[in-house]
Amino acid sequence: MSAEILNGTRLAQRIRSQIRKKLKKLSFTPGLAVVQVGDDPASTIYIKHKQRDCEKVHFHSEVHRLPTDITQQTLIDKVTKLNARQDIHGILVQMPLPDEIDEQTIIDAISPDKDVDGLTPLSLGNLFINRETITPCTPTGIIRLIELTDEPIEGKHAVCVGRSHLVGKPVGVMLLNRNATVTYCHSRTQNIAEVTKHADILVAAVGKPEFITADMVKPGATVIDVGINSVDDHLVGDVKFKEVKEIAGFITPVPGGVGPLTRAMLLENTLKLANR
Ligand code: NAP
Repeated sequence: MSAEILNGTRLAQRIRSQIRKKLKKLSFTPGLAVVQVGDDPASTIYIKHKQRDCEKVHFHSEVHRLPTDITQQTLIDKVTKLNARQDIHGILVQMPLPDEIDEQTIIDAISPDKDVDGLTPLSLGNLFINRETITPCTPTGIIRLIELTDEPIEGKHAVCVGRSHLVGKPVGVMLLNRNATVTYCHSRTQNIAEVTKHADILVAAVGKPEFITADMVKPGATVIDVGINSVDDHLVGDVKFKEVKEIAGFITPVPGGVGPLTRAMLLENTLKLANR
């Protein structure tokens, strides 16, 4: 039987409408600042989508575009100025940054009070010790999609393929905090299929088109495809959707799965920070 598709677009719409309702109780407008360095086309598209989402929920949003050849210090100064702004509640520095700039140093410069993507050491540390915090947008969106299945996370074996600070590592911790048994796979893992075949929940965050094939998936598993890969002008995930959907219990599509949720969580986190 074919897997049930976890529709991220529809869930994100529902979340935005809840945010609009919550906004009515606020006496001020939440503000999100996005900083882009250079003109990477994919980043430009992602930022446009984020701005459009902000418009949909009547948030203030602004984009600060800086040239590729700026120094690290100029970028830190920009973030520091945004940290001091009363009308800006969330700051997002769009990754990737040019090679000359150390991404972690820039993340460190964001005030934890405005850390809308939950990536500062304080936010990630709080997540690690399971304390209430702003959690990274993509992993939080992944949890929402898993919750859509109505199946408990507790006691399940979750396998994360990928261990980046942005996606793989935090989503594994979030699943662990919900009492799943978590295994990480990465580029040095041997016999990955032997591990993934035992996953009740399989999160693919590898960045390799159609890396996860049907023979790597346990029948009935929940498969979350985080990957966004451009192949012949098409977007392809990290999961071979056509064949895996015939064996999985639930699966997210690309596009229309994790992507819309990541953006919805950005709005939710902005609102949370504004409420602080
Ligand atoms: P990343 O930083 O490049 O991390 C990729 C991870 O995959 C690393 O941990 C790497 O292992 C692992 N990996 C690479 N090759 C592997 C292999 N052959 N076997 C097993 N593991 C392997 O990427 P990311 O930022 O986590 O993003 C992953 C994907 O998600 C990308 O396609 C990205 O575009 C997409 N993404 C989507 C969203 C969204 O909203 N939908 C958000 C963020 C990212 P090592 O650690 O050993 O190098």
